[in-house]
Amino acid sequence: MAQALTVIEPATEAVLDTVERAGVAEVDEAVARARAAFPAWRGLSPGSRAELLHALADALTERREELAVLEARNAGKPIADARGEIGMVAATFRYYAGAPERLLGHTIPVAGGQAFTIREPLGVVGLIVPWNFPLTIAGWKLGPALAAGNTVVLKPAELTPLTALRFSEIALEAGLPEGVVNVVVGPGSTCGARMVEHPDIAKIAFTGSTEVGRSIAAGAAATIKRVTLELGGKSPNIVFADADLAAAADSAPLAVFGNAGQDCCARSRILVQSSAVDRFMALLEDSVESIRVGDPLDESSQMGPLISAGHRETVASFLDADAPVAIRGSAPEGPGYWFAPTVLCPVDPGSRAAREEIFGPIAAVIPFRDEEDAVRLANDTIYGLSGSIWTRDGARALRVARALDTGVLSINSNTSVRVSTPFGGFKQSGYGRELGPDALDAYTEVKSIYYATT
Ligand code: NAD
Repeated sequence: MAQALTVIEPATEAVLDTVERAGVAEVDEAVARARAAFPAWRGLSPGSRAELLHALADALTERREELAVLEARNAGKPIADARGEIGMVAATFRYYAGAPERLLGHTIPVAGGQAFTIREPLGVVGLIVPWNFPLTIAGWKLGPALAAGNTVVLKPAELTPLTALRFSEIALEAGLPEGVVNVVVGPGSTCGARMVEHPDIAKIAFTGSTEVGRSIAAGAAATIKRVTLELGGKSPNIVFADADLAAAADSAPLAVFGNAGQDCCARSRILVQSSAVDRFMALLEDSVESIRVGDPLDESSQMGPLISAGHRETVASFLDADAPVAIRGSAPEGPGYWFAPTVLCPVDPGSRAAREEIFGPIAAVIPFRDEEDAVRLANDTIYGLSGSIWTRDGARALRVARALDTGVLSINSNTSVRVSTPFGGFKQSGYGRELGPDALDAYTEVKSIYYATT
């Protein structure tokens, strides 16, 4: 008999729901269901699989408000953001609904016959996701995995299981066969670890911390499992003195404080050219102070609480770091795991606040001298996920973009993620790409066939 798992609402600290906590036996059952469903799902015609993914996108669009409210309450994110996220999940299925009929191979001229390649699904794929963008990140993996003909076992984070559970019901209602999508809710140390070692899981697609990613890569070695890892970040937002400083300062706060800073792409190191630091900080102060922190269900909220009391303690520990607090926004009193948006300036590039992923609403402003210094500082990190460059000099923007060891970049903008463009990290931010056409490579094997004609 499975035990109960209590789900807390971070904005109120009250119990939001109680769900069944899975253990190793439930993981094994889910894998067996996914394995049984695999031959029929892979054997479905590409057009039929495409139709079912379109039906799923329709069903998610119809239930967008219900899912957005659930996500907003469970993850503590503003309802407007949650609506955008559920919209992106539906768009992800819509995008990959085009894929089953476009899984193309090559024909290759060879002596004595003809060679060609086809793409095969991997089998049962294990998806392990974090609590910060629960259904969005699941959708990035589910879309290409299902389109390519795999069946899946999805493990959401224990703190935020509700939209994944509801999603599995919606998938059935939309017509996906039983066993194609299986959700298990349980701890990473037991359920996640069992997925990593399970001999019938062909691949683990993981999003989470670099520390857990490391243990997953090691554990997967025993069965030579395929692994893709989307891990942590400490991304730079580089502002040159010749930039539109007002636009850069207007955009910088939500690039760190969006989702209360619990964003792997957070541009949490704001590198500002020394000659522009005073002007930039004056503009930044106005934008930070205008951020509305409050009830996730209030339409005007731009930032909600942190996910848990424990996480708030970790974030707060960075205030004791050796950098002065230059700007502090406001946040509600408790209950709720609130934390005011905070800017530290100037921050020493060697300090903890400049080097570690805080995963909360604290930005570190680090002055730099010139282009060379900016590139050196931006790359001086174990991470390489995202980043931004603000300048009016187009040639410089491209030079710096080429020089940064980063998977996703934006110029004169702070956006990172689109359904149609690849997303993923350099260095210890992980390997493999999600979204765009590249994600399909991560959920297929290439088979090469030679047909003798002589
Ligand atoms: P986490 O690594 O603690 O947990 C992520 C998931 O892994 C959860 O489902 C957890 O239960 C599971 N897990 C934990 N231990 C496991 C184990 N030993 N074996 C298998 N599974 C295990 O991360 P988190 O605290 O939920 O999320 C925050 C982290 O995620 C941050 O570092 C953030 O940067 C990262 N993240 C990265 C991306 C990206 O796309 N690169 C996106 C969002 C979050």
